[in-house]
Amino acid sequence: DDDDHPREDSSSLTVAVRVRPLNAREEKIGNIRCVVSMCDKETTVTKDNGSKQTFTYDFSFWSFDKHNGNFSDQERIYKLLAQPLLVKAFEGYNTCLFAYGQTGSGKSYSIMGQVNEGRNEIGIIPRFCEELFSRVDHEVTRDSEMVKINVEISFFEIYNEKIHDLLASSKEKGGKSQLKVREHPSTGPYVEGLSMYVVNSFEDVEGWITLGNKNRATATTGMNERSSRSHSVFTLVLTQTRTDEVGSQKNDPRRITSKINLVDLAGSERQSQAKTEGDRLREATNINKSLTTLGMDSVLTWLLKESIGGNSKTAMLATISPTNYHKEETLTSSIVNTARV
Ligand code: ADP
Repeated sequence: DDDDHPREDSSSLTVAVRVRPLNAREEKIGNIRCVVSMCDKETTVTKDNGSKQTFTYDFSFWSFDKHNGNFSDQERIYKLLAQPLLVKAFEGYNTCLFAYGQTGSGKSYSIMGQVNEGRNEIGIIPRFCEELFSRVDHEVTRDSEMVKINVEISFFEIYNEKIHDLLASSKEKGGKSQLKVREHPSTGPYVEGLSMYVVNSFEDVEGWITLGNKNRATATTGMNERSSRSHSVFTLVLTQTRTDEVGSQKNDPRRITSKINLVDLAGSERQSQAKTEGDRLREATNINKSLTTLGMDSVLTWLLKESIGGNSKTAMLATISPTNYHKEETLTSSIVNTARV
């Protein structure tokens, strides 16, 4: 199946859509029809008046019957969308993956997954980290003299244009939970005072992921709005230091640093409803240039400006609900917004 092999092309942007299954509540209500269908790369939405609109993506990920060729579980989505970014990161590219969609459509499920619900349910971040360390081990074992690999992580949330460190222990950073973006003259934008941890194994990372998720959940408690209006950004910085065979003793080691951002965007419903579909379609062609298209705030746009476009690799996963139960306008606009035209 050719579709199961990530493409080896030079396109710097991959766009995919994933429809989630009906949830228990929707099943119970009954009489809810799935208004989305998928075939190969195409996703079709049937509007209330019966008219259909079809959009083409790099991948259309289906969630219902397993016999459908587009059926995609967490593993397949990781393989097709995220693993190619991991490969690129080892080659020295900066990479970014975004989950974009309405609240409740499956962004967090896709990016993080249900980490305590067993292997099949875990999402992109833990899968990515696990494979990253198996590759690190492989590289280092293969040639221990020649390559040293350092991995650092950070995890933060942007809410109301303010940055909250999800990995800060409350003791250390109690008063500093609102951090600022600064611009470094040579390395670009960064979050001042953000916790960055060196991690040596997947188990190390798992511990931090658990803490970050807990901190995010705590911040959200009692504030329903917050979870839908905040972005979360999980960052890995991979530094590979190589000494070449000939001059291993004398020559300057070559150092390659790549940044990987895995981003769970705020719910797309918070975007202005005033735009026409034509506006959205036009903007969608400019994702690389105009991040505000995706409802990103200026803080996130600033931070990621050097990780998107140019020489970097970006993947966008648009998540959608399957039903006409949600406001159709929103469903359609989520799709139109990310359609590749
Ligand atoms: P969002 O982050 O977009 O607000 P969530 O990821 O929290 O949405 O998903 C809403 C609910 O739907 C959660 O209970 C989640 O587990 C479930 N869900 C979402 N996508 C899927 C999927 N592809 N398969 C199974 N359950 C899903």
